[in-house]
Amino acid sequence: MARVYNFSAGPAMLPTEVLTRARDEMVDYQGTGMSVMEMSHRGKHFVGIAEQAEANLRKLMNIPDNYKVLFLQGGASTQFGAIPLNLGNGSGKADYLNTGHWSVKAIKEAKRFVDVNVVADTKPENFTTLPAEGETTFSPDADYVHYTPNETIAGVEFPYIPDTGDVPLVADMSSTILSRPIDVSKFGVIYAGAQKNIGPAGLTIVIVREDLLGKSRENTPAMLDWATQAEADSMYNTPPTYAWYMAGLVFEHLLAKGGLEEMGKINERKAEKLYAAIDGNDFYRNPVEPAYRSWMNVPFMLADDSLDKTFLEEAGRQGLVTLNGHRSVGGMRASIYNAMPEAGVDALIHFMNDFAKRHG
Ligand code: PMP
Repeated sequence: MARVYNFSAGPAMLPTEVLTRARDEMVDYQGTGMSVMEMSHRGKHFVGIAEQAEANLRKLMNIPDNYKVLFLQGGASTQFGAIPLNLGNGSGKADYLNTGHWSVKAIKEAKRFVDVNVVADTKPENFTTLPAEGETTFSPDADYVHYTPNETIAGVEFPYIPDTGDVPLVADMSSTILSRPIDVSKFGVIYAGAQKNIGPAGLTIVIVREDLLGKSRENTPAMLDWATQAEADSMYNTPPTYAWYMAGLVFEHLLAKGGLEEMGKINERKAEKLYAAIDGNDFYRNPVEPAYRSWMNVPFMLADDSLDKTFLEEAGRQGLVTLNGHRSVGGMRASIYNAMPEAGVDALIHFMNDFAKRHG
C-alpha cells in the first residue's frame, strides 16, 4: 500500500489503522447491511456510535462531569462568532490575546458582537514569540478571555495555561487538541475543528463548562447556541454523522496506543528532533523563540529561497508531501500531528540533511 508522509496542516493524516477499519466497515457496518453514512442519526446504531465516541473522548482528555461535549459543524471559524454570542452577554467586553493568524480571525469576528480588548499582541514580533507566563493583565469585568494555544501558521505554542482568575478562559485548540494531556478544568470552553488531530473536516468539537450554558444573547441562532445543542445531544439538526464516527475510531485508537500521556511523549520527541535538525544546520532556519515553538506545526526556511521549489519537488519524489509553508509566510512547514509516525519525521530529517549537503 502506497501511503505518503503527508505534512499538511489540515486536513491532515489520519492513522492508517483507522482508515483500514473504516474501509472494512464501510459498506456493511457491523452486520447492519448499511454504511454509517446511510444510518438515521436517531437510530440505535448511530446513537451507540455517538455515545461511545463521546465516552472515549471524555476518557482520553479526562473531561470532568460538569462539562458538556458538543459535536457540531461549521469548523472552528463558526465558533469565532458563537463564542461572543454565547458568552458576551454580561459586560459585553472580552479580552483577546493576539498571537497569530487565527487569533486575528477570532478577534475580527468577535468585534461584531462584543468590545474586544486586546491584552497581548505579538504582531510587532511577526508572531514569532508569545507573552511570558504571568506577563498579561486581564480585565476583571471581561465576560471571557480568548486565546489560541497553538498558532498553526506561525508555529507558536503556549507552554502554559494563562491564569485568568474567575474569568472563563476560552481556547481555540484546533491544532493542539489531543497532542498531550491538559487540565480541562482550567478552561471555560475548549473548541477545535476536527481536521488535524481528531478526524475528517466537517466536525467541530466544543467542550463547555455547564455553568456557562444558557447565557447566550437573545438573537443567537439556535444552531450556534451551545445550550440548545447540549439539550439536543448535538442533534438539534442532522449532525455530521460520518465524521463523528471517524472521530470515534481515532479516539479508540489513541486510547489503545496509551492515551495522551503516551502521545505527548512521542510528540515531544518528534518535535525536538526536527527542531534540532533545523538548528543544527545553517541551511535551515526556524524564526520562533525556542520556548514557544509548537510541537505540531514546524515552519522553517531555506537559507536560499530560490531552492524552495526544488526542495518540494525532491521531497515529493520521496513521499514527503505538503511541506510548503502557508501562503502568508512562505518557506516550508511540517505539520506533525498525532498521526504522523515518528518514522515520517525521521525520513524528513534524513531528506533535509541530504538536500543541504547536495545544495548547500
Ligand atoms: N483555528 C486554528 C488554530 C486553525 O488552525 C484553523 C484551521 N487551520 C482554524 C481555526 C479554522 O478552522 P476551520 O477551518 O475548522 O474553521
